Amino acid sequence: MSLWNNAACVAISADLFAAAAKATPDQRSVLAAKAVCGECRARTSCLAWAMAADESGVWGGLDQNERRRLRRKSAPPAGPRR
Ligand code: SF4
Repeated sequence: MSLWNNAACVAISADLFAAAAKATPDQRSVLAAKAVCGECRARTSCLAWAMAADESGVWGGLDQNERRRLRRKSAPPAGPRR
């Protein structure tokens, strides 16, 4: 079974997530997409996929900037400079 089988967004208009993926998305679209993700049973798997894929838009309940911040927080500390 694919992780996308339980995706809440498959029942939602693709326009909503496309609007949230624009270079300068309107916050209403972003919040609406995040609300869909909040009800999604595939959210954890989706977020893990999105963290690796570096896609634009809302995936796993986070927008691209939020995922970048999470990626930086999760990165191991930089080693000494040589
Ligand atoms: S978490 Fe959001 S983007 Fe990911 S599958 Fe679920 S509804 Fe779709």
